[in-house]
Amino acid sequence: MPDFQAILESIYQDAKQASDKGIVATYIPELAHIDKNNFAIHLRTSNGKCYGVGDFNKLFSIQSISKVLALSKAISLIGESVWDRIDVEPSGHPFNQLALLEINNGIPRNPFINSGAIVIADILVSNLENPKEDFLNYVRELSGDASINFNIDVAHSEQSTGFKNFAAANLLKSYKNLNNPVDKVLDFYFYQCSIEMSCSQLSSVFYLFANNGKCLQNKLHLTGSQVKRVNALMLTCGFYDEAGEFAFEVGLPGKSGVGGGIVALLPDHFVISTWSPGLNVKGNSKLGMLALEQFTTKTKLSIF
Ligand code: GLU
Repeated sequence: MPDFQAILESIYQDAKQASDKGIVATYIPELAHIDKNNFAIHLRTSNGKCYGVGDFNKLFSIQSISKVLALSKAISLIGESVWDRIDVEPSGHPFNQLALLEINNGIPRNPFINSGAIVIADILVSNLENPKEDFLNYVRELSGDASINFNIDVAHSEQSTGFKNFAAANLLKSYKNLNNPVDKVLDFYFYQCSIEMSCSQLSSVFYLFANNGKCLQNKLHLTGSQVKRVNALMLTCGFYDEAGEFAFEVGLPGKSGVGGGIVALLPDHFVISTWSPGLNVKGNSKLGMLALEQFTTKTKLSIF
């Protein structure tokens, strides 16, 4: 077994010294003031051990990382019919791009670009009795951590500036791929994206994807084949139009968010979460990606 704590410490030392820490996302005003010197890594192994460096208990906005959890809830509610309304191909374009949605007649390329995540939000709004509360409880149940919550200021901040998401939802509606009112779906979507977690909570919540669908409390949420599909989508579509680069450098399925978080996993082995708010030009955490590249190189643990 590699000395995980020593490896994380050495990655942390390198990260602290990095001269270019990327640029914090400013298009959601509430996220613009986050200090880019925050840095954390947390590792949870399948044999129950945890390792961490930096601010791994500090909360941050998980943003698009929530799309994996929303997808997994939607699959557990309506199964394969999710794929009648969303494709499973990488987009090769930014997460909020709308042109492809038109070209594909209102069928989003995958569930992790914004239009796809908005269709998933529509599915959850249709199938959950109290969508926001039930979704939050689902996330809490996955980790056994009732302290996980929305950040209402972040949700409202995005509500007042998320014009492109309104455009995407209206476009979906025009193609009859949105059943509920635009405002209702986006209200849910903005709350979903506003969930805050620490790296240590993120590693717990995502444990089911490394553990054949069974969460930390040993409850089965997804079948083995459903987990295989979600992991495949994380590998091919989890990093905006940089999924190829992430597979090339890191070699793990994972998902990033504009809050600077990344979660990645090796089935049956571990979940690893990083947080560094500065982003690269593609919108992925600059130091988070570098840290994960170093981690899989030093430990020789990747799916390849
Ligand atoms: N709530 C963000 C948006 O819809 C999520 C973006 C992201 O993390 O990629 O723009």
